This record gives sequence, C-alpha cells and structure tokens, in this order.
Amino acid sequence: MPAKDQERRRLTDKELQAFTKDLLERKRQLWGEISDDIDDDVREEHQELIQMAKDAGDRGLAELRENTIFSYIKLKVEELEAIEEALKRIEDGKYGRCQNCSRWIRPARLQVQPYAVRCRACQEKRELTERI
Ligand SMILES: [Zn+2]
Repeated sequence: MPAKDQERRRLTDKELQAFTKDLLERKRQLWGEISDDIDDDVREEHQELIQMAKDAGDRGLAELRENTIFSYIKLKVEELEAIEEALKRIEDGKYGRCQNCSRWIRPARLQVQPYAVRCRACQEKRELTERI
C-alpha cells in the first residue's frame, strides 16, 4: 500500500502553511546570498539598484533580471522567481495542482520540488517533447 504522500491529494492547510513558511525562509536566504555574492565594487556601484530591489520585492526582481551585470546570480534570481510564483499559487489556491492535467501533484513530489507546477507524468511527457 502506498504511503499517504504517494497519493495524489490536496495539501492540508497545515501542510500549505509549512510550505509557505519554507518558501519565505528560502526567499530570505536567497536575498542574503545574492547580496553576499555581489562583491564590494559592484555593490558600491549598484548600491541603489540593490537597495531598490530589496525594497521593491517583485518589482525589484524585474530590475535585477534586466541588469546583465547580475547574470552570475541568474540562477538565484530564477529561483526567487519560482518562489514568488509558488507563493502566488498558494495564495490563489492553485498550489499543488498540475498546470497540465489539473490533477493534484503528489505531496511527496512537492516535498522534493516545492516549485513543481506539473505532476511527474506531465513533466516527463513535456521533457520528452522538448527533447525532440
Ligand atoms: Zn499532470
């Protein structure tokens, strides 16, 4: 018999709260890492932009993305975007539902990939077509 988390099901409120907490925590951590990654010269030069990005949240993210000097922190910025999207899906009540087939994504999958927007079956199908 499969474990409960191996089934497709809606996340409980308690689980959603835990995911939200983890996502917000990771978001804070990433912002910290991003400012640490930017060396002092760059930091001085772009102080205004960095501050603006911190203050503005989502809007700041767009500024960061447009600025090529930050290309080396691109991955972290992309993760931040994934976090924002996940938080928005939680707000909209869409979190944990597959964007493709609308079925619930297994909680075990979300534990490993909290930003997953598709169930594993749909993700695998998508990766196959992308390769062709
Ligand atoms: Zn699916």
